[in-house]
Amino acid sequence: MGSGCSGENRGRDSLVNSAADTLELVVEHSDDAIPDSVLNAAKCVITVPVSTHGESGNLVAIASCRDGSDWQTSIVTFTGSLSEKQTSALIIVILSASAEAALSKAELDIRRANRKPPLVSTKALVTASDLTSDYMVYKVQSSGEISPGDAEGKLQFPQGSKDSLALSKQSRSLKKYGKSLESFLNAIVPTGIVIHHTALISSDKLPNGEKEVDSYHQQRGFEIQCSGKTYHVAYHYLILPDGTVQRGRPERCEGAHARGYNSYLGISLIGDFSSRDNSDGANSEKRPTTQQMKSLVELCRRLRQKYNIPLQHIVRHSDIASTECPGDRFPFNEFLRSLQTTMERRSLSGK
Ligand SMILES: [Zn+2]
Repeated sequence: MGSGCSGENRGRDSLVNSAADTLELVVEHSDDAIPDSVLNAAKCVITVPVSTHGESGNLVAIASCRDGSDWQTSIVTFTGSLSEKQTSALIIVILSASAEAALSKAELDIRRANRKPPLVSTKALVTASDLTSDYMVYKVQSSGEISPGDAEGKLQFPQGSKDSLALSKQSRSLKKYGKSLESFLNAIVPTGIVIHHTALISSDKLPNGEKEVDSYHQQRGFEIQCSGKTYHVAYHYLILPDGTVQRGRPERCEGAHARGYNSYLGISLIGDFSSRDNSDGANSEKRPTTQQMKSLVELCRRLRQKYNIPLQHIVRHSDIASTECPGDRFPFNEFLRSLQTTMERRSLSGK
């Protein structure tokens, strides 16, 4: 470590750390989110952390651009006037190839947008025409809440920064940032619930606590980075026969429980409720226990209220994929009825 550049490294580390913190803040504290389809189409994600908002001169930011299945991260500068004052950070999502080319070749002009960029709360279903913008600008308040943003100026790579960040790939701050970026890209606002049974876990081998649930799923190869942690469990919740609810992935982390339904929360009941696969109950519980159903109704009621999930978005795994899961003995209609009546009773009593 040459003493001549340690100050520069420190500055760079704190910039990378601030960018990571900005992304984490959104994942953990924002009620709203950038829709999946925008993030899936993103060619680059540029984070302008709040700490770098000085005068209206040069700001430094962190840019990550797709490089195959990987992301290449570099420093960029932002020159121009920011309508957002020091209280909010910015996240700029680059969508078009021409904007990405402009950024990598010389500079990218950021102008005030004519229309507001979509968020899950305002536009959950993004169409192809919504994605024709070159870029979208979002702001991040100090509370972590994300909302449409505005900025005007030029984004460009300062000389040599591409190389210098590539060289420090092993730095702690860049590793942390990489995890935060992955969480950010995998963050969801839940829009539905899929119900499963575990089938494979027999009652006498119940995983004991989150660690064992996680290691069980690790063997099956599910892995996701979310909020700075690695999760292997595919579901968001697991309900034991005695009614205990175990947490799997955090709610804001996308699931790996039903293909194409990553923004749905996955809840799995321990047992095998298929009369074909578990006819005599030799494998595990033949049908959900009363306590399990009670916990499931309570959990779903809470999640529905929290995320405003319509009843039609609560489905069995077998409703959306060709699978027996959660088995023909799972009392789906009865479950929906009790969910509905608990909701109605609540609204009648004024909460
Ligand atoms: Zn399933």
